Amino acid sequence: MTTPERVAIVTGAARGIGAGTALRLAQDGLKVAVLDLEEGAAKPTVDAIVEAGGTALAVGADVADPAAVTAAVDRVAAELGAPTVLVNNAGITRDNLLFKMSEADWDAVMAVHLRGSFLMTRAVQSHMVAAKWGRVVTLSSTSALGNRGQLNYATAKAGLQGFTKTLAIELGKFGVTANCIAPGFIASDMTRATAERLGEPWEDYKAARAKAIPVARAGEVEDIANAVSFFVDERSGFVSGQILYVAGGPKA
Ligand code: NAD
Repeated sequence: MTTPERVAIVTGAARGIGAGTALRLAQDGLKVAVLDLEEGAAKPTVDAIVEAGGTALAVGADVADPAAVTAAVDRVAAELGAPTVLVNNAGITRDNLLFKMSEADWDAVMAVHLRGSFLMTRAVQSHMVAAKWGRVVTLSSTSALGNRGQLNYATAKAGLQGFTKTLAIELGKFGVTANCIAPGFIASDMTRATAERLGEPWEDYKAARAKAIPVARAGEVEDIANAVSFFVDERSGFVSGQILYVAGGPKA
């Protein structure tokens, strides 16, 4: 149950978890800005939403670029209405062991996850505060608990947990909640790329990962979209500053 006039921005929504989340929020009755690096890449998600009877807008922006973020949020406000739901989902991996990790790979991961979530949230908060209502949902990861070969990514995903808890404290009095979802293994282009990097066929890799998951399957983007939907729901206003592990079990 969400009132239809709510407008959401989902970053990194051209594909994967972001696309699934954009579709789900549209099904829930929200208008959705589908934001990704290239506007053209966001169009298929918009088309799927429109075909299903929803309202959506494709927006191109790099979340790490302050001017692009300001322009994107202004455009969403003008064309869809004031955005009061933000899903900080855009993400990249640049995996390597510490001794082989370049400064560029460290900086790129920090830029998208940390700087990107900061810039996007700063840009939409004025709309949320004005509406005295808002929802910020940020994608962390089980990697925040530590994951070999992901020093940069694990650091960024742990950082987003502190980011979320602080947002919850600062913005609560304006009717804004902030929560994190920390997915485990989800089938997406990101995890396909990991299988490729390790030289393992995708189906073998996915089956091996599923073996270690208590519910005995890989996660799907809809599993994460469902958790986002819960946090965004009008009735979830007393849930804030939380980290929800959506991993098919209690541990990574
Ligand atoms: P994905 O690689 O399939 O999609 C990520 C999207 O983000 C892409 O469309 C990409 O173009 C976009 N993006 C990247 N940099 C951007 C930027 N600077 N500005 C705007 N858009 C940008 O990834 P996914 O698997 O769908 O993951 C989505 C989120 O969930 C990420 O934050 C990821 O770290 C997190 N996550 C994924 C998994 C998993 O198993 N797939 C597990 C835990 C957390």
